[in-house]
Amino acid sequence: MKSIIIAGGTGTIGDNALSLIRRYPDDYRLAGFSAHQNIEKAASIIAEFQPDFVAIPDEGRAASLRELLSDPCEILTGEAAIDEMVIRPCDLVVAAIVGMAGLSSTVAAVNAGQTIALANKESLVSAGHLVMPLVAQCGARLIPVDSEHNAIHQCLQGHDRSEVTKITLTASGGPFLHHTMAELADVTRQDALAHPNWVMGAKISIDSATMMNKGLELIEAAHLFSATADELDAIIHPQSLMHGMVDFIDGSVIAHMATADMKLPLAYAFGDTKRLVSGVSVLDLVKQGQLEFLSIDEEKFKSYKLAKQVIDAEAKAGVILNAANEVAVMAFLQDKVGFLAIADLVDQALNTHFDGEAGSLEAVFDLDHAVREFTTKHL
Ligand code: MG
Repeated sequence: MKSIIIAGGTGTIGDNALSLIRRYPDDYRLAGFSAHQNIEKAASIIAEFQPDFVAIPDEGRAASLRELLSDPCEILTGEAAIDEMVIRPCDLVVAAIVGMAGLSSTVAAVNAGQTIALANKESLVSAGHLVMPLVAQCGARLIPVDSEHNAIHQCLQGHDRSEVTKITLTASGGPFLHHTMAELADVTRQDALAHPNWVMGAKISIDSATMMNKGLELIEAAHLFSATADELDAIIHPQSLMHGMVDFIDGSVIAHMATADMKLPLAYAFGDTKRLVSGVSVLDLVKQGQLEFLSIDEEKFKSYKLAKQVIDAEAKAGVILNAANEVAVMAFLQDKVGFLAIADLVDQALNTHFDGEAGSLEAVFDLDHAVREFTTKHL
């Protein structure tokens, strides 16, 4: 029986991880999870899965949850609750908190030498230069569960990194693939949230619409697979059936294909290279018909272009890119700025001098804070 801890248990990734535990009750059990706001959902997860502990950072919400529970469950609370939870003994930590908010607990889990199913890309974008050496130092393991990175991880099995010449991620192109710049200026939050192929949370849905998501994923891939910008590429594949491909020195290209469903990468992480029945529907290529591949229009999707430039830049550029983007996306979700302003705000932050380097986690958090203040002021 393998025990699982989920940081970010009430989100979309949490749902998919819980569905796997539900499918394999004799093989996996939920040891604990965290919830940020959704206390009712946390209570229903506790009732169904009977975990040993739950982390609710907000003390008021922790108290509300306590009142909802009929079964005993230890409640960790306070600012460091999730960091304390992910270092507890378990077989796998699912790191599914969205954004920079996930960095602290990811680092705590790494420090504790855990095996981590990493869904939080922002922690590598901001601090991959610190996290990756720490992974090696602490004997931790990162299993990527971002679908594209999991695809690459699968393609690389049994191969030496020196045999690889190129790593390519695919992008659906999001809901605005065929929009003109003029049309992009007027898109609404609802338009941007309507992703054609994937069911995801709000932040990543907006990132997919701007294609910042693919840029963040290239930076994530650079860290995960020790790749330079020259070795990395992304192409648009609107059907989202091929998730990633690896070119090898002999001219072979190994690609990973599957129906777009986050249960699959999570199942691969749960099985740890052993394949599990995931509940993902069978891929029928004949029924699907044509598969398309297109290059990314970097003028239209400026966020993608900006992120790409960060790959080989100094480490602090990743912090600036991510912090400005998180603030700009939140502002767009609150109807405070238009869609095209998201990339402009990121561009402005990247072209501004911020004091300090990103040489330590503390420095990363300080820089992140400064960029958030700056971007908020310029909304
Ligand atoms: Mg992805």
